[in-house]
Amino acid sequence: MIHEKLLNPKSILVVGGSDNIEKPGGKLLKNIIDGGFGGDVFVLNPGRETVQNKPSFANVADLPGNVDLAILAVASNLCVPVVKELAETRNTRGFIIISAGFSEEGEEGKRMEKELADIINGVGGTLIGPNCIGVVTPCYNGIFTYPVPKVNPHGCDFVTGSGATAVFIFDSALPKGISFSSIFSVGNGAQTGIEEVLEYWDNTFDPEKSSKIKMIYLEDVKNPDKMLKHASSLIRKGCKIAAIKSGSTDAGKRATSSHTGAMASSDSAVEALFRKAGIVRCFGREELTTVISVFMCKEMTGKNMAIITHAGGPGVMLTDALAAGGISIPKIEGEHHDKLLAMLNPGSSAANPIDILATGTPEQLGNVIDYCDKQMDDIQGMSVIFGSPGLTSIAGALDVINQKIVSSSKPVYPILPALNTAREEVMDFLAKGHVNFPDEVTLGRALTTVYNTPKPAEEKIFFDNVNIDKARQIIDCCENGFQPPHIVNQLLEAAGIPTAKEGTAQTEQELMQLIGEIGYPVVMKVVGPVHKSDVGGVTLNIKSDEHLKSEYQRMMKIKDVTGVLVQKMAQGMELFIGAKYEPKFGHIMLCGLGGIFVETLGDISSGLAPLTLNEAHSMVRNLKAYRIIKGMRGKEGANEDKFAEIIVRLSTLLRFAVEIKEIDLNPLLGNATDIIAVDARILIEK
Ligand code: ADP
Ligand code: MG
Repeated sequence: MIHEKLLNPKSILVVGGSDNIEKPGGKLLKNIIDGGFGGDVFVLNPGRETVQNKPSFANVADLPGNVDLAILAVASNLCVPVVKELAETRNTRGFIIISAGFSEEGEEGKRMEKELADIINGVGGTLIGPNCIGVVTPCYNGIFTYPVPKVNPHGCDFVTGSGATAVFIFDSALPKGISFSSIFSVGNGAQTGIEEVLEYWDNTFDPEKSSKIKMIYLEDVKNPDKMLKHASSLIRKGCKIAAIKSGSTDAGKRATSSHTGAMASSDSAVEALFRKAGIVRCFGREELTTVISVFMCKEMTGKNMAIITHAGGPGVMLTDALAAGGISIPKIEGEHHDKLLAMLNPGSSAANPIDILATGTPEQLGNVIDYCDKQMDDIQGMSVIFGSPGLTSIAGALDVINQKIVSSSKPVYPILPALNTAREEVMDFLAKGHVNFPDEVTLGRALTTVYNTPKPAEEKIFFDNVNIDKARQIIDCCENGFQPPHIVNQLLEAAGIPTAKEGTAQTEQELMQLIGEIGYPVVMKVVGPVHKSDVGGVTLNIKSDEHLKSEYQRMMKIKDVTGVLVQKMAQGMELFIGAKYEPKFGHIMLCGLGGIFVETLGDISSGLAPLTLNEAHSMVRNLKAYRIIKGMRGKEGANEDKFAEIIVRLSTLLRFAVEIKEIDLNPLLGNATDIIAVDARILIEK
């Protein structure tokens, strides 16, 4: 838990505070003073009586009293004794260690970092860092970098794994008007990491007072369960969360592991975790700060946008960006169209985008926004594009936009690109507490990203006829490695996943008995080799005893073959479901079209087990091949409900079977009524 003394200290000690504001200790002290911290500020700096007019001491023992919070900006090897003395003799419970030179630099650093965490844990205190840029709360500004973020209780809460990246993020956020209610740069996260900050936000969430907007930058998911639990809980309480998890490609991974001592986790696991939690995933700073700006506007409750502009091109570009992501710009027709047009100068357009032309007045702009807000039920948001050719002041128009943002019941997204031509007017606009979207296409993409992020998944697990006890018995008794057909079949049966009628034979006599039970037409497959087709071990559509026997004799001669599997021939669209166990995360579930499509098109959706039916449906609908699965141009599709149900059944089974490291159902054959698995590979490692 994060200690009250870290958040709201009555006294702060800056260890290594200096008069030189080009040093971290000097700049940090200056920011605390300039930020108007209301309590006592002390400095530990031998040989000085005052630093920046604050009392300075040589030793902890010389301090006039206790200190709540210590911020350390001294060499790493000096930290342990100071922290120990403060914790033991000065009742200090908040510690922020700016200094680098810990676990990111080797064994000795790692040892010191652990010792610091142990000392602070021992007294029930909170440690932020080491190797970070600090903390900002409404009480004090404890970071040493520039630019200094704007603090505002209604701003966003920000937690970052990288201090340097946070500085870049501020540079992208501040010109957009984003303010912050708290900032935690967790650095190496020796005690308090990203997940612990989320936990704290969740456990202390107050619907009246807490900020509902959370921004995260992370390079490593250390505790996926904790992240999922608290992120989804916060979102259910009404918060919105946007995050960058960097290191999603292999090249990116190498860059992170040499950075904060962080090891990047597998990307599909992260993707699945974020979707399940309802976190809006971003990939760059501009995207992140634009999504946060969207969060700072009113919420759009539907998908229909009116675009109000005085320049044609940007209106069209925004239309394209929104439409590409599923937000509609419905054509305005009939009475609404005529009434809107009547408000405007000749030559204007009211079809949506509503183009009020360069000659449009602030008053006309206001009337159009009001009309969309109050008269048009099928519009749920307005984007207003207003630039400046530099001929006259746009202060009047910005004033109208300011008023309408406040008075409208629907969100109004201001797109004010004239950061040079009308800089002062735009700054005045931001000073009223608004955000600005300087680029319409960046806004369009951010809005659609938000719109397409699912709500957090429900927590309940689907158990309908999934026999966990039976599955556990099978797994407890089986051997490591790829499982033989009868074990595969029993496991699928325990999960309630339909399979083709089948059996195995090792002699001709068994073979003939089997065909009597199954009946032609059948498929024969080798038992033994993992990739059966590759060794000529799959023969489809066998309809006679003669063909059956000759294929049997041929297959039994193939290398590593121990028998044959005879399976009822089925028909349908080929589908794929797979899963892989990812340490810490659990099973990542995948689905797509089966057969050759899986590998060639890479069109796969992912999710994190256990899944709900809603999640599985959303995975299926996210496939590019979804229209094929639904059936198109008279071609029969596959039953989507059954497909989703099988994905869920498998995910429930896996939730209780971490020994299954990999599983592939490829293919399942589906038609409009049924889906059955005809090939499954299961790898067990206990
Ligand atoms: P492998 O993946 O080891 O090569 P499969 O059992 O998947 O072997 O069979 C290869 C292909 O044969 C499948 O992708 C599917 O197209 C077809 N197939 C397999 N079993 C059946 C079946 N019971 N009915 C119809 N087609 C089948
Ligand atoms: Mg196969």
